[in-house]
Amino acid sequence: MLKIPFDNTYARLPDPLFTRQGATPVSYPRLIVWNESLAAELGISGDPGPDALAQIFSGNLVPDGADPLAQAYGGHQFGGWNPGLGDGRALLLGEVVDAAGQRRDLQLKGAGPTRYSRRGDGRNWIGPVLREYIISEAMQALGVPTTRALAAVTTGDHILRDQGPVPGAVLTRVAASHIRVGTFQLFASRRDIDSLRALFDHTLARHYPTATGPTDLLRQMMARQAALIAKWMGLGFIHGVMNTDNMAVSGETIDYGPCAFMDGFDPGQVFSAIDTGGRYTYGNQPNIALWNIAQFATALIPLMPDQDEAVNEFTRLINGFGDVFDVAYNTEMAAKLGLPASAVATELVTRLTALMANEEADFTSVFAGLADDTARDHMLDTDGFDDWAQDWLDQSPDLGLASRTNPKLIPRTHLIEAVIQAGVAGDFAPFHAMLAAVTQPFAPLDDSRRPFAQPPSDAERVRQTFCGT
Ligand code: AMP
Ligand code: MG
Repeated sequence: MLKIPFDNTYARLPDPLFTRQGATPVSYPRLIVWNESLAAELGISGDPGPDALAQIFSGNLVPDGADPLAQAYGGHQFGGWNPGLGDGRALLLGEVVDAAGQRRDLQLKGAGPTRYSRRGDGRNWIGPVLREYIISEAMQALGVPTTRALAAVTTGDHILRDQGPVPGAVLTRVAASHIRVGTFQLFASRRDIDSLRALFDHTLARHYPTATGPTDLLRQMMARQAALIAKWMGLGFIHGVMNTDNMAVSGETIDYGPCAFMDGFDPGQVFSAIDTGGRYTYGNQPNIALWNIAQFATALIPLMPDQDEAVNEFTRLINGFGDVFDVAYNTEMAAKLGLPASAVATELVTRLTALMANEEADFTSVFAGLADDTARDHMLDTDGFDDWAQDWLDQSPDLGLASRTNPKLIPRTHLIEAVIQAGVAGDFAPFHAMLAAVTQPFAPLDDSRRPFAQPPSDAERVRQTFCGT
């Protein structure tokens, strides 16, 4: 028997926030992976074996204490408001309080259609499931606030996507919560103040217990988003679809769709095939975070006693986001050079990234190479690099700090694609090998890990990613 110590609170919030609903059974669930250490952290006990785990984490068997529901939300997608989103292929099983006292959601992603599925089938397939598993667990190991992956199963059913029939799969995601900017927006847009207030109280207690009210919540949320985006940028991470329904109010990275870590550095890089306007490029992420926070602020206004005054106050606050972000970004990037934040460090970062951008140098290899003197090997303009390195060394950088900050391994897009292809053919050994490598991103590169650090050849380079729904 598997014992999950559920303690569900979202299910007791007002009705408009969700729809109670079960999973749709699948034919033949098989376990791909079970995250034992995360299970232990969540207080999950018992070892029922892979078949029972597959039954539970495909949605075929409802575990004791679960209260499955689909959450309602809206969102700005590529800048356009959509009031009709919600969990279209996800179900919240319930919440547990983890070993550190933090409440966490357990969610099945791909468990069948819900009230919010619109024209979708409510399903997920091996591609996005393996991608989210690998990237979210790598992000955790890289020290970035993120949702986690507890389990992945194949369903035994095939589903239809643009490329034809593909093997179905379900991911179990763990999150501080699944409350999105778009969750607040939905109830504010409906002028459903009772639901909005209940959501606000729940969010405050759960994520911002020290916040004194909406203004303070907004201030703290902004700081977390600034820190989060700075961490993404420091790793060359591009989220790819920062719609307001894909921004968690908790400050965790959520919804790994067409996301990717950059190989060659290009601040204008965009991966998502549907992002034709370049809205969600690497370098535009702070601007979009600010745009999303402005939508969040707008959704909080109905909770303020004097709404005109609130508009002024929130505008002032939001105008400060650039400064808050710059501090977070400059600190993050200076640490990559082994330096404390300072004007000199910022200038060194600007110069190095400009050199890298000129020739699309491999982002991860150059930074990782600073600590062991191999960065130069990854540059074409070695003269330019040497000039820079002289000025950098004049600052007496702490190479220990640089090596603790710069990962040797990130999940490379072309390698994830290879893992997915093998998975589709029923071979999960490459998935397990890659997962083991990228969840130790700072460990030395021995022969077994070195292939995962290798930048793609021109032929291997993946130039576009897809939502993969
Ligand atoms: P995403 O692109 O994953 O952020 O999803 C945007 C919206 O589309 C959310 O409301 C999802 O629940 C919904 N959605 C995405 N894929 C599917 C699917 N296969 N079936 C039903 N709804 C989906
Ligand atoms: Mg989403």
